[in-house]
Amino acid sequence: MRTSPPHKPVLAILGNRNLELGPFAIDQTAAEPSPWVHWRMRTDEDGTAWLLFDKKDASANTLSEEVLTELDAILEKLEQNPPWGVVIRSAKPAGFIAGADIAQFRGVTDVAQIEATLARGHAVLDRLDRLPCVTVAVIHGYCLGGGLEVALACDFRIAIDDASFGFPEVLLGLHPGLGGTMRLPRLIDPTQAMTMMLTGRSERARRARRLGLVDAVTQERHVRAAVRAAVSDEMVKAKQSFTGSMLNTKPARRLLAARMVSEAGKRAPRAHYPAPYALIDLWVEHGGDAAIMQKAEISSFAKLLVGDTAQNLVRVFFLRDNLKNLTGGTWDGRRVHVIGAGTMGGDIAAWCAWHGFVVTLGDTNQNAIGGAIKRAAELYSKIGRDDHRRVRDALDRLVPDLKSDGVAGADLIIEAVPENLELKRKIFAGIEPKMKQSAILATNTSSIPLEQLRENLPRPERLVGIHFFNPVSRMQLVEVVSHDQAAADVLADARAFLGRIDRLPAPVKSAPGFLVNRALTPYLLEALVMLDSGMKKETIDKAATDFGMPMGPIELADEVGLDICLHVAEMLRGSLNREMPDAPQWLKDKVGKGELGKKTGKGLYDWKDGHAVKSHDDAAPPPDAADRLILPMLDACMTCLREGVVADEQILDGAMIFATGFAPFRGGPMHYAQTRGFADVRDTLKRLADQYGPRFQPDPGWDVP
Ligand code: NAD
Repeated sequence: MRTSPPHKPVLAILGNRNLELGPFAIDQTAAEPSPWVHWRMRTDEDGTAWLLFDKKDASANTLSEEVLTELDAILEKLEQNPPWGVVIRSAKPAGFIAGADIAQFRGVTDVAQIEATLARGHAVLDRLDRLPCVTVAVIHGYCLGGGLEVALACDFRIAIDDASFGFPEVLLGLHPGLGGTMRLPRLIDPTQAMTMMLTGRSERARRARRLGLVDAVTQERHVRAAVRAAVSDEMVKAKQSFTGSMLNTKPARRLLAARMVSEAGKRAPRAHYPAPYALIDLWVEHGGDAAIMQKAEISSFAKLLVGDTAQNLVRVFFLRDNLKNLTGGTWDGRRVHVIGAGTMGGDIAAWCAWHGFVVTLGDTNQNAIGGAIKRAAELYSKIGRDDHRRVRDALDRLVPDLKSDGVAGADLIIEAVPENLELKRKIFAGIEPKMKQSAILATNTSSIPLEQLRENLPRPERLVGIHFFNPVSRMQLVEVVSHDQAAADVLADARAFLGRIDRLPAPVKSAPGFLVNRALTPYLLEALVMLDSGMKKETIDKAATDFGMPMGPIELADEVGLDICLHVAEMLRGSLNREMPDAPQWLKDKVGKGELGKKTGKGLYDWKDGHAVKSHDDAAPPPDAADRLILPMLDACMTCLREGVVADEQILDGAMIFATGFAPFRGGPMHYAQTRGFADVRDTLKRLADQYGPRFQPDPGWDVP
């Protein structure tokens, strides 16, 4: 009897993808026990050792201390008895190595300890770099962060067609920390290297070849031949050009850095996002000497990692994971019917068809459907540039449906007709009898309580809110709205649906404005009060962007549409038992005149080529301007938590970041309130209430003992 091996047979892990695994390709079922948990090694007939990385109990390979310690032991063994060559390859179908295990970064505070851990990691990659035989990384799928650093420590990099390479650390408030800052600018044109590290953008295999980041691009069936060519010194190695090496000299670095700093400044201010500037400083100061650069990289990375920005961005990474994890489930629907082909319905239908659903799109107005399909084609040509077949298939799946024939076969029906209770009820009454028993009935309403919409429905438990934001293709967050009679499995299915269309669900209870609009409205209204009192719109916006919002409230109101803002504000004023400023009459007049913001080219700002025309007067906003804008938003968040509109702070912070762009480096509104101190938030609100009026009266939720 054969005892079961500690790892699954390789083929069982690989599924349909045929990875060329050298000596592992034969006799897979008898995978011998490996002395290592995450690595396996076999030598092929040429004497090349194939080192397979297959992280235990994980769908993707990530680097951890344990993984690197094992690698170190393997390299030590190879050092003592060098094979002809060494190949490093991932056994995971999706890719090579996704980067470091980010969980390790969470909550760390001890700079010396981080430096020591990093130094151990560097020693492992240096050992790989110095191995007395040819080393080859064979890379498919993603090769990111620490994964790319492993590949950079090899002599050759052979990419499969689908490989992509990147250093996304900057998105976590960091820069590469395992030698990437030292090795990449010496391998390729340093300006390209710095751009990759400063933007976090990935490069596909062919472009990586042009950059000199990889030595060859090939297909699985040629991998063995490519490895043999590399190991036997027959492959031409990508080399840094002469110009590239000149750009690494100190005067050139100085010159280039000035431009990089100014570019970085356009994207993220130093005070909020220090990592890009730390990386530029590192390169300028130490780019000429690998050993010094290595030391400096370690200390700079450790300093960034314990800082507030990186810790908050790591938090945001897990906030996203938390929302993503809500999409699990077994819902296997394939057909979606959308009612209303306007701004929202048309875009929802297009997005669903892009993600593989067969979508029927109904409207009483044929032109609306035509317009929606035209917009879908425009969107697909942007997001599917290289993939004509996917564009064609998605358009084939998007079916105009004037007679609502799609209702009977739909697994999910989404209503997106104008915001009118009677109209929506009438539509539900018409389609309910034709719906499949198992179908989900969803509304995209932004303001009508679901308790009112579900009245008279024979199966109210199947109704949920799936509240998308505009524009659907760009806004990652979608509120999944429950009501007192919604079935738990229908809500779970709605979340699973959102997972399948690559959106993040935030479960909220039916309540005026749900979470996001409720929190955003006081922020927008306060901006209008400030505008009314004579403050310049650019100054108001600057107060918000200085705080870290992606866009100021005046510009945001124009983006969303002044008609929509006005409608939500009036709805909230009418339904919430709380003091709120009335929208000024001039705003109502503006809406009456059709000056609705970006969509009409004129609103609070004039709009040209999709941008608000602003005057360049950089007057500093008054000291309390940011608090006047941000604290009412925080206060509404606290009310939503206290009233149970949203279950917890993680969901709330994630929702506000992914729906409104709330300053990610602050970790979300509730996290910001905690960092600042609840008592300080409350006392400042009280002071603002004394000065500007009772609309600032703090929620009792801040009064924690
Ligand atoms: P819209 O006016 O752009 O589109 C509504 C569409 O419904 C129109 O094409 C209209 O012809 C169609 N319609 C009207 N009566 C119909 C009927 N009986 N049967 C079928 N189709 C009918 O509206 P919108 O902005 O897309 O809003 C739709 C819903 O989405 C509303 O509930 C709104 O509150 C909500 N919403 C809007 C936004 C936004 O920014 N526009 C954001 C989130 C949610």
